[in-house]
Amino acid sequence: MRMAVMGASGRMGQMLVRLIDESDQATLSAVVERAGHDWIGCDLGQAMGAGPRGVVVTDDVAVALAASDVIIDFTSPAVTVALAQAAAAAGVAHVIGTTGFSEEDLAAIARAGQTGRIVRAGNMSLGVNLLVTLTRQVAAALGADYDIEIIEAHHRHKVDAPSGTALMLGDAAAAGRGVALADVADRGRDGITGARKPGAIGFHAIRGGDFIGEHDVIFAGEGERITLRHVASDRALFARGALKAALWLKGQGPGEYSMLDVLGL
Ligand code: NAD
Repeated sequence: MRMAVMGASGRMGQMLVRLIDESDQATLSAVVERAGHDWIGCDLGQAMGAGPRGVVVTDDVAVALAASDVIIDFTSPAVTVALAQAAAAAGVAHVIGTTGFSEEDLAAIARAGQTGRIVRAGNMSLGVNLLVTLTRQVAAALGADYDIEIIEAHHRHKVDAPSGTALMLGDAAAAGRGVALADVADRGRDGITGARKPGAIGFHAIRGGDFIGEHDVIFAGEGERITLRHVASDRALFARGALKAALWLKGQGPGEYSMLDVLGL
């Protein structure tokens, strides 16, 4: 399968290039960076600090789409929304790992998914997607007298909060309780907040150092607490999930899918 990597110089982009190189089911068809980036026009191998490999980094999305069956995209929300429209129009599948979308962004991606083939997941790992299903089950089993708090930790460069994964977990907890997350989310308390609102789902974000991604879902009741925890210790985890999603999309019709679909959860 011919795969293009968007944001090729990024933390996830470089990881994806390495994994595609190792795969016997995928070939690297194009690598894209933003216009004006130092790597544009350079050989990818040399830009990554190795020998030349004959793939030139481009800022031309149309060229990348024409050469590819799927694009894998860990960039930023505005870039991803535009790519979703372009990929759907070109009949190229789109794996979206980007996080930090607004409601309008999500609606635009859903529109692209009416004709295009998309997998979008705030977290591509098997463990986190299992945690999503467990969170939903535990929230449904425990009822609203257990307070739900979601704590996440990421590296100092992360630009959005709460993380896409924390929001996935919050959605799952809200679904387990039969409510909409938007109605109960309580993000980053500060100051004289008053007592905790019954049924709220709280979010807290730690940023620092080189945390790859850690998530705790706490169910706090009277006399006991349950914590569901996931710790990512290698970024390759997310890239492997993205590659799996890209290969899975080959056999699918139009739609916006999640990693739960890809993993059969
Ligand atoms: P990063 O900043 O290291 O990489 C982003 C790259 O995108 C940069 O190289 C940037 O130059 C490039 N870019 C910007 N505009 C572009 C454009 N118009 N065309 C092509 N490339 C462009 O960030 P990162 O740590 O790799 O994370 C990227 C995104 O992926 C973030 O939203 C992050 O939260 C998300 N992420 C998701 C998962 C997951 O499992 N879903 C895992 C890790 C990170």
